[in-house]
Amino acid sequence: MNAKNKNNQSPKPLPSAEAGGFDAAIVGGGLVGLACAEALAQAGFRVLALEARSPQLAAQSAYDDRTLVVGAAARHFWQNLGIWPAVAAEAVPISSVHVSQRGYFGSALFRASELGVDALGHVVEARRLGLALLKRVQENPRITWLSPASLEDFSVRATGENLSVELIFDHQGEKHTARASVLLAADGARSPIREQLGLETRSYDYGKTAVICNVSTEKPHQGQAFERLTPDGPVAVLPFRGGRCGFVWSMPRQQAEILLSGDDATFLQAAQERFGYRLGRFTRVGKRSSYPLHRIEVPQQVSSGVVLMGNAAHTLSPVSAQGLNLAVRDIAQLADTMTQARTNGRALGDLAVLANYQQARRADQQSTVQYTDDLMRWFAIDAFPVPTLRSAAILASGLSPALQARLFRHGSGYRGQVPPLLRPAL
Ligand SMILES: Cc1cc2nc3c(=O)[nH]c(=O)nc-3n(C[C@H](O)[C@H](O)[C@H](O)COP(=O)(O)OP(=O)(O)OC[C@H]3O[C@@H](n4cnc5c(N)ncnc54)[C@H](O)[C@@H]3O)c2cc1C
Repeated sequence: MNAKNKNNQSPKPLPSAEAGGFDAAIVGGGLVGLACAEALAQAGFRVLALEARSPQLAAQSAYDDRTLVVGAAARHFWQNLGIWPAVAAEAVPISSVHVSQRGYFGSALFRASELGVDALGHVVEARRLGLALLKRVQENPRITWLSPASLEDFSVRATGENLSVELIFDHQGEKHTARASVLLAADGARSPIREQLGLETRSYDYGKTAVICNVSTEKPHQGQAFERLTPDGPVAVLPFRGGRCGFVWSMPRQQAEILLSGDDATFLQAAQERFGYRLGRFTRVGKRSSYPLHRIEVPQQVSSGVVLMGNAAHTLSPVSAQGLNLAVRDIAQLADTMTQARTNGRALGDLAVLANYQQARRADQQSTVQYTDDLMRWFAIDAFPVPTLRSAAILASGLSPALQARLFRHGSGYRGQVPPLLRPAL
């Protein structure tokens, strides 16, 4: 990041900054930054939100038509924020999940009805969720939303009990300054803010790529999702609207390059071989996109006046469908911690306040990262006796209601402390 004004002009202070500054400045207007802005504004905080891309670009790339699985806790979050009604009509409830291992015995079927819930999760379109959020953020009078606006530099200032973060950013070719009590870095997996702070980052490259697309199937999915474990990596098939299914297929990078450059018929045939015929023939495939699979962990996600959020704090492989669900649980906790700090007259960016937040989130984050990593690594080992043990484990989970209930609780996102934004509305 570079604080220098290229035109040699003095950066202009934002009007609201002159009137005492913002409670929170959020850098990054992806799904996490937008959700942070809306959650904090609804808790009564004045928010500045900056997104580097123009709204058109954001609509093309961030809010694409890929599918997202929303777990139970996250659904309550979106409901409590008032976002859920905008996506509910198109959301597909997952009535059951079928787990199997290619080429080995044993499968498990998890049914919502047997677990006493209406759905094991919901499948929504990322684009629809993003646009609903953006609309709410743009309409919220407590949020100053600027796009395209790119953070160029920041500094944390402490004077006595007070702590504030000074920002310099570019908005439509002009330099501006603003002040906030706390800075939330929702600036993605490569997080320039994390880099500037020099926070330790542990990255692991799985050496694989996830190929994502929608496929149409001969038989209706009837709300059933599938997780098929293969030595190359898991294949997830998610029930989607319009008789389509979301297809998330992880595979070695070279294989992905070949399949992405081939024609639809070749891709469909390979996908069919990998998944089998539980949904009949695959009849059509939509646009294919690919994501390199890696994991980023940041042990220390807070520093004085700054918190890392979303992909900046933890980037997970999409195969477990947990990245946004986990981020939403972080946001709910942060909104609660900041509300308590305000009630107790504490500075919002006080390191002790932010450390409390991180402590409250640590166990959930660690177990979610571990779960995703197990899916990627343990399930990819193909040497005897691992596949046989895996089959036995899958079979056991299918037969044991207690184990199923435990796995469901894990997937739904209810662990440890439950902040108000994650609780079902009364
Ligand atoms: C294929 C796929 C499938 C997935 N499926 C699921 C799922 O089913 N369920 C689930 O829970 N999660 C899922 N995820 C994960 C989920 O999509 C991510 O966790 C989430 O989108 C992370 O969003 P983010 O806002 O943290 O990051 P990003 O979307 O990367 O946003 C970061 C933003 O910051 C902006 N920015 C960066 N630097 C600056 C700057 N200096 N100034 C201003 N702005 C800046 C960027 O322009 C960008 O818009 C999936 C992910 C993938 C890739």
